[in-house]
Amino acid sequence: MQLIDIGVNLTHPSLLKEVDAVIERAQAAGVVQLVLTGTTLEDSENALNLCLRLDAGDALFSTAGVHPHEASTWNAAAAKTLRDLASQPKVRALGECGLDFNRDFTPRPQQERCFEEQLTLAAELCRPVFLHERDASERMLAILRDYRDHLPAAVVHCFTGERKALYGYLDLDLHLGITGWICDERRGLHLHELVGQIPVGYVYVDGLAVGDIGDAALKDRRILGEEGFISILVAVEMSTRKVVFGPEITARGFTDDPVALDPIRKELISVVEQSLAEGVRDADALQHIVRRTVGRWVDQTYRRRPMLMPMVVEV
Ligand SMILES: [Zn+2]
Repeated sequence: MQLIDIGVNLTHPSLLKEVDAVIERAQAAGVVQLVLTGTTLEDSENALNLCLRLDAGDALFSTAGVHPHEASTWNAAAAKTLRDLASQPKVRALGECGLDFNRDFTPRPQQERCFEEQLTLAAELCRPVFLHERDASERMLAILRDYRDHLPAAVVHCFTGERKALYGYLDLDLHLGITGWICDERRGLHLHELVGQIPVGYVYVDGLAVGDIGDAALKDRRILGEEGFISILVAVEMSTRKVVFGPEITARGFTDDPVALDPIRKELISVVEQSLAEGVRDADALQHIVRRTVGRWVDQTYRRRPMLMPMVVEV
């Protein structure tokens, strides 16, 4: 069987050293084409460059777009850059673009504006769109109804929704990407029945982040939950309002890259010290701040939600 993976996050930093091996493994498993996902302008450019560097034929393609998490970066200059990127032959779709009301990293009106302008661009350039939607199917359907006739094709990637949303998307003649979520016994079981309702030719393998961690991390992940585990230890001195130890961040089943979590350490110190300066004195409240800061960063950087265990000690 020939497979096409339409959602590969091959530009992920943890994969940089492994890109060739991932492609080789994918091809050995029968994946004949991979579409690399662009989530920011920079990422979209990286995805395009990877395609150009590694493939002279028609095995690798990419998308270019601004993810709803990044909608606050959207402006006229971004629109121009995206237009240039989207005109490249290797770039086959606009996206990821869409709405995420689950995490609401950007205010909803901003998400909608960023989304609609990308739809307008896709219609103008006659490009398909690669859509991201979490807990926002009603708004997404309402917006898409206005644009659908002007778009050549559209796929809702990583579909995890309910029957009503699925039928709404199928009514608009959209395609659906199904990820490993369908194997998740806690959250994905409802998809077993739904996926059979998607007509042949409308359902895609959506790799998402398949292949971006190795066997060692996967082994841990089975023990500690599917998205890994991160513990954070910080000691603060209340009198000086300073971080005096840490943050010591330990990850299991999350990544094979020993320095992957380094960037968040520095940020965490300044967030904690700023909270102390603003008068937060309670370790529980600080723990909450630590969890939120790390969770948000991990989600934005890796699009994963591991189990987080923050511990703030007062000295
Ligand atoms: Zn997405």
